[in-house]
Amino acid sequence: MAKEKKWGMTTTAVHAGYSPIPMRPEEMILFRSVAPPLIQSAIYPLTDVEHYTRIVRGEEPGFDYGRNCNPTVDILERKLAAMEGGESALATPSGIHAVFLTTLYLAKTGEEVVTTHLIFGEAYEFFFKIAPEHMGITPRLVQNAADPKEWERQITPKTRLVWIETPSNPTLFITDIAGVAEVAHAHGVPVVVDNTLVTPCHQHPFELGADFVVYSLTKFMTGNGTIVGGAIVGEKEKIRGVRSLIAGVGSILHPFSAWLALLSLETLPLRMARHSSNAEKVAKYLVQHPKVLHVNYPSLPDHPQHELAKRQMPNGCGGLLSFVVKGGREGAIKVMESFQLIAIVPSFGTSRTIATHPATHTHCNMKPEEREAVGIYDGLIRLSVGLEEPEDIIADLDQALAKL
Ligand code: PLP
Repeated sequence: MAKEKKWGMTTTAVHAGYSPIPMRPEEMILFRSVAPPLIQSAIYPLTDVEHYTRIVRGEEPGFDYGRNCNPTVDILERKLAAMEGGESALATPSGIHAVFLTTLYLAKTGEEVVTTHLIFGEAYEFFFKIAPEHMGITPRLVQNAADPKEWERQITPKTRLVWIETPSNPTLFITDIAGVAEVAHAHGVPVVVDNTLVTPCHQHPFELGADFVVYSLTKFMTGNGTIVGGAIVGEKEKIRGVRSLIAGVGSILHPFSAWLALLSLETLPLRMARHSSNAEKVAKYLVQHPKVLHVNYPSLPDHPQHELAKRQMPNGCGGLLSFVVKGGREGAIKVMESFQLIAIVPSFGTSRTIATHPATHTHCNMKPEEREAVGIYDGLIRLSVGLEEPEDIIADLDQALAKL
């Protein structure tokens, strides 16, 4: 017998099956799943008119509007804060957006940021072009980043943040986080660490004195090249301060991307252990190859910062390395275009091994002399070592280097 209809067809289409308010006990079962739920909604019902004010003030949990928050993104933010050992996290639509938002929160026109050229290409573009030209925030450049005193020398009364990327992309330079934090804090300046390359599995910047940790979720954190995303982690009040800006200038991570990130993060420690052990084997192979002039990988015993790397990253140096081949730019192109397993991709951090030519791809906006000063030579190849059998990665490198 047909069930009596409660509403007209159009009302039924809109309302049947799920009602946002109030949640009936029998509906709670819908939200019990082993995998985290993907809540694809841009808007949320308020319990009463003043609920909105209480959410915005942080007095009561709740969701108001999809530009500011989302339940799936919230689950991701809790996971990221826990993994990083921070109080709170904010997921951003990209890693570079995390760079922008953190700077926007900490510095204003007429103020300064202290950093180096040992940063990824878009961060260079942001700190040395966009921030000074569009925001009136001046970068102060540390030349000898190995010495915390050189960082201190660049700090002035106008400095509002110190930005460290360690290990750096693409040359794996290691900055002494504890040393720089000590001098920055002596001047009351917060330290931000980009932890993208080695993730919370290998490096804990908060334990070394960092005030904020940022990363790209696009790379190892998700590990399969499916999403673009980023995050900022820090003290609860500070992250609330950053979050208060996004309603006016931006957006959070898309819920579907957050959901994919949540699935991937469950295997991050296992993946990072494999990336690191594979990269170590590949680095050892490359360092003895007659056509390779230089290898950047800090777990190699003769790396100039090996001791610092061991202190800062005691259980592995991650899956990214870079190496310089004979023959400069032509040599690098010859090797890269000879790869059969390894793909040429201007990114890193995937389960597949991928290679980039930083001088042509990621760091093409840097002046050649600035690039060379930080070791980004024309013959430099960046290799993101994947999860394959290490012998297969080495065999592909071997046949490609033989063509040089
Ligand atoms: N941090 C580092 C060290 C990076 O290398 C990158 C990108 O290459 C980012 C952050 C920015 O990430 P996204 O591409 O997600 O904006």
